[in-house]
Amino acid sequence: MIPAVRGTRDILPGEVERWQFVEDTARRVFERYGYAELRTPIIEREELFAKSTGETTDIVQKEMYAFTDKGGERVALRPEATPSIVRAFIEHNLEQAMAVPKLYLYGPMFRHERPQKGRYRQFHQLDVEVFGVEDASIDAEVLDLGWALIGELGIRGAEMVVNSVGCPACRPAFSDALVAALGEDVRRLCGDCQRRATSNPLRIFDCKVAEDQPIIDRLPHSIDYLCGPCRAHFDEVRRYLGLYAIPYRVSHRLVRGLDYYRRTTFEVLATGLGAQNALLGGGRYDGLVKQLGGLDRAGIGFAAGIERLVLALPAEVQYGTARPEVFVAALGDDARQAAFVLLRDLRRAGVHAQVDYEARSLKAQFKRADRLGAPLVLVLGDDEMARGEVTAKDMTTGAQEAVPRAEAIGYCRARRVP
Ligand code: AMP
Repeated sequence: MIPAVRGTRDILPGEVERWQFVEDTARRVFERYGYAELRTPIIEREELFAKSTGETTDIVQKEMYAFTDKGGERVALRPEATPSIVRAFIEHNLEQAMAVPKLYLYGPMFRHERPQKGRYRQFHQLDVEVFGVEDASIDAEVLDLGWALIGELGIRGAEMVVNSVGCPACRPAFSDALVAALGEDVRRLCGDCQRRATSNPLRIFDCKVAEDQPIIDRLPHSIDYLCGPCRAHFDEVRRYLGLYAIPYRVSHRLVRGLDYYRRTTFEVLATGLGAQNALLGGGRYDGLVKQLGGLDRAGIGFAAGIERLVLALPAEVQYGTARPEVFVAALGDDARQAAFVLLRDLRRAGVHAQVDYEARSLKAQFKRADRLGAPLVLVLGDDEMARGEVTAKDMTTGAQEAVPRAEAIGYCRARRVP
């Protein structure tokens, strides 16, 4: 047996119904808010991520599935969707094509991380991005959209966390303040943090090493260093969150580890998922479109991980039980032929119908109908054939009645609970 690659998994029948529920709900909610689907390739030029996600980020430095292809080109399996969406936005001039470019993307992402519960090497994201709007009303819409998704999925106990990481005008002062506040303590931090202190001090807030936490907790907060416009923007975002009655908490720890974030950052956290508790996360990335060769356009979005949404769904709900509406049973060669024609006609008429493919005893066929959970069995035997009828048996009450064969489809449809 050749097992699946470590960190990847098969999504089997029985679990896939939960995925389908998440996917269908997301599409419905996104489209209601006016977001159009975009699909981009899983493979991109490696430099796209180096230039956007960030050369010094863990994702690009340690986790990317990057390789040289047979033509000698450096390519990577996408570790996140935002760079691909920005690339497509620029490459196809979507600004011209769409009144307000509001996009969503659904698909697999790849990161070579240590697998654990809620963390995989191939995982799946629902990604939402909006371009060209700086006003805080769009931050509010995007945050509300994420919150609406969690609500419509029936996930309880989630928490919205927000922060502002400022802009290139005010962030240097904050970075300096962090380094100054750390002082000599920097040497007591983990190796990663010591590197971060010189390459990108904000990222120290992403550290999960327990011993580092008391030092990190004493560090200054980004929102105390915002410039006037960034402060006003963050106040506006918070005002909208109040108007929308979205419960949220400001967390100065929420800087998110990528280079491109500006101003608003946010996450929705789940209770009961353990260490990997971020259901979705995102923020504003004004400047990224220009950095990747486009016009100077604002951007904001979020990514939600399907695996974690599926884990967070309420356990008691049954999703998409694919039970047949009717089972067709037959005894005898002629009846069997007629049964397969009836089966086909039922399916063509939109009725979920099942059958037993082997010519087994009636008892065995009923057993199978029962196992499949069919509420109704239509029986065709010699007697029924002679009379041009089928016997309809209600599997719940055990009641039987004769139905003319020509009326069998209408009979099945009429039993449907509207
Ligand atoms: P990020 O792109 O790291 O901000 O992640 C956005 C969302 O994607 C997270 O909140 C998770 O729900 C999900 N996610 C990120 N990395 C993984 C992973 N390795 N396995 C499963 N889900 C992930």
